[in-house]
Amino acid sequence: MFDQILFFGGGDCGRRIVENLLKDGKAVIVATTSDGDEFRDANGIVELITHTRISHCSGTFGNFQVALTCNGDEIHRTVGSIVLSEAHDRKSNFSLYGLKERQKLFTLTELNDRLRLNDPSISSGKKIVILTGLADESNPVTWKASLRAAMVMQSEHKAQIYILAGNLKVSGSGLEALTRDAKKAGVVIIKFTDALPHIDQNEKAGITVTYTDEITRQPFSINPDIVVVDETLKPAEYFRDLAQLLELDTDHAGYLQSDNVHRLNVRTNRRGILAAGPSRGILDSSQEMADAAAAVVELKSQFSHRSHKTLLKAEIDPGKCIRCLTCFRLCPYGALELGPKVTVSEEACEGCGICTAECPRGAVGIEGLKKEKIMDSIGKTAPALFPHITAYCCNRSAVIAGDTAACLGNVLLEHFDVIPVPCAGSVSMDLLLSAYAGGADGVLILTCHEGNCHSEHGNHHARNRADRLSMLLEDIGLEADRIRVHTIAANMAVEYTNIVREFEDRIRELGPSPLK
Ligand code: SF4
Ligand code: SF4
Repeated sequence: MFDQILFFGGGDCGRRIVENLLKDGKAVIVATTSDGDEFRDANGIVELITHTRISHCSGTFGNFQVALTCNGDEIHRTVGSIVLSEAHDRKSNFSLYGLKERQKLFTLTELNDRLRLNDPSISSGKKIVILTGLADESNPVTWKASLRAAMVMQSEHKAQIYILAGNLKVSGSGLEALTRDAKKAGVVIIKFTDALPHIDQNEKAGITVTYTDEITRQPFSINPDIVVVDETLKPAEYFRDLAQLLELDTDHAGYLQSDNVHRLNVRTNRRGILAAGPSRGILDSSQEMADAAAAVVELKSQFSHRSHKTLLKAEIDPGKCIRCLTCFRLCPYGALELGPKVTVSEEACEGCGICTAECPRGAVGIEGLKKEKIMDSIGKTAPALFPHITAYCCNRSAVIAGDTAACLGNVLLEHFDVIPVPCAGSVSMDLLLSAYAGGADGVLILTCHEGNCHSEHGNHHARNRADRLSMLLEDIGLEADRIRVHTIAANMAVEYTNIVREFEDRIRELGPSPLK
């Protein structure tokens, strides 16, 4: 079942993903909350399960056991990976504009549907106002849809279109050119940055839009035949529940991908689970199609690096484990499996070491993060010499910055231990205290920038521990800044040097640590 893929979702992007997977020779089970019309003619699907929801999912990359509820029954499938893509939920913004649903008042989606069906009620409108981004923040997808609809109505239906827009975002691909084309076609685009237009809806007179032109300061009034209102796009409601069920990190809006560069394009925090197209954010159609292609490439890559043989994996000593589930809760990759014993999935473990730092029994370990080994590296520097600094450096950023600094000839203090760690979140209180016991006068933790931690919150864990340690140092009469945390990127060799030198200066002011 390793090669079998569960696609869950629907929509245009979902259909394209399934087509691409089938073209690539993958065995695909398609499951959807709807009637799955968009998949009916996709040849080669192993199984189409409609009107269903995922009720349970256990296991990890290569071996997910998924339970789906379907017409009151529960069916079970085992798959190697899961791909998620579902169209947005769209909510009309009528109420945000103070408008009540009436004839000749449409949402943008309704307008496009009617244009597609050549609805005569649209062609009868000669003056049409589109309201977008005035009540809610605009986005490139809505803006593009507004422009396209406006151009069709302006050129094919000989109507005069006014787009009244606020908080305009035209950064999406091709949007500036499309905006220019719409203006050339005769669409009037009025942007509001200050006072918004006043919209009045009256039973008899219909809708009147009044505003002051921001450039000429002249008042204007429009009585449109048709008013079109934008919509707020949100992640599909069910997918927000799914995020919890599948232990996926989401962004602030609830899309299935956290704001983290390591998740681009279609990765989630869990190996073997991908989120593409509208499931991971508001993307325009070309970006969605790019995601549909990226999903296939990413799956190939994950399959080919299936067991990550080069990475060190966490291992649990069952004799010490008390099944407190701290590791299970903290693992950013959902790599802990709960059977008769707590075990680590070799497929899913990314070797970040976050679990090792918080296990209350020291039951989970990773080769290379063993205290004896680290103490050995610290001990190589003569403990009595001053100043002596120990730096726990994230392998993904600080170690590279430090190596580059060395290549550039930046000489740092003589007694400086660099302890490479897979993630700063793996540096436990025990390891921090061990550094002082090993002779350090000060300890640095150098970690990745906010939103750039491969393990999502490793830098937060590091900062929290450093804060706790600062308080502890003060409690025993030592200076709180004998521990410092800095964020850094791999290309910041100069900053790396400056951080170490500034810390060295501070430690010289403080004098030798009494804990030596
Ligand atoms: S944190 Fe340690 S003791 Fe707790 S379940 Fe995990 S391995 Fe076992
Ligand atoms: S090392 Fe990291 S990825 Fe592996 S089990 Fe521990 S927390 Fe999860």
